[in-house]
Amino acid sequence: NPASKVYVANKIKACNTVGFHSMTHKLEDSSSEEELLSLIDNLNKDESIDGILVQLPLPKHINELKIINAIAPEKDVDGFLAHNLGTLATGELNSAIACTPFGVMALLYAYGIDPSGKNSVVIGRSNIVGKPMSLLLLSADATVTMAHSKTQNLIQICQNADILVAAAGQPEMVTKDFIKKDAIVIDVGIHRKENGKLCGDTHQNAKEIASALTPVPGGVGPMTIAMLMLNTALAAWNKDRKS
Ligand code: NAD
Repeated sequence: NPASKVYVANKIKACNTVGFHSMTHKLEDSSSEEELLSLIDNLNKDESIDGILVQLPLPKHINELKIINAIAPEKDVDGFLAHNLGTLATGELNSAIACTPFGVMALLYAYGIDPSGKNSVVIGRSNIVGKPMSLLLLSADATVTMAHSKTQNLIQICQNADILVAAAGQPEMVTKDFIKKDAIVIDVGIHRKENGKLCGDTHQNAKEIASALTPVPGGVGPMTIAMLMLNTALAAWNKDRKS
């Protein structure tokens, strides 16, 4: 997957920058579920490894949920495991948090934006972005609406958002018509246009109405990698603390 190659290269670069040892295991398209499960089992047992991430998407014949849930919870630095999403839902916030929504929260706080009491709309309900994003905003006392592909009156719902998170995976779908005046707009989407340029889920005309809009590239993407490094450091620290 060409996009995955770029993401993996960026993650290796980030590991080198912060001084983490990293290993990449490249499997063939034709690899079986058993091969991948066996690799994860070995990495789970390897004392020298603190974090494991499986770069998605996987080939169609492999069950992604089964693979993700085979990772030891304490080594799930992506925060994708049902266990880790579950602790987010119960508000424990004591295990790895999915990196993209975690990065969004770090961005909001870095810019002094407190979600408490604010109407927040998250477009998208995936397990890796939309759902954990909504749970994190809820934990921060926002009033959260989750919108998705079956949502009716999406534009009107978004027009009520003080904080709007666009994670629908639809290029430039969120135009200025969706935006409440002075809203904070977080663009999670990343797409390559026919002219080769990158764009997000948000149209540039959103800037005319919003008080803040994250850029693509350069906004949520780098934050995701930063939080991956943080989750890995925390996993190593937690292991040392227990031993
Ligand atoms: P996904 O395809 O798994 O989920 C998309 C969600 O959007 C679904 O829940 C769907 O119901 C909803 N949706 C789709 N079309 C819609 C529409 N027209 N109106 C309302 N809702 C709609 O995608 P994902 O993995 O959650 O990723 C979303 C986007 O974020 C993608 O563009 C992806 O490339 C990007 N992404 C970026 C980063 C990053 O680091 N910047 C990380 C993860 C994902």
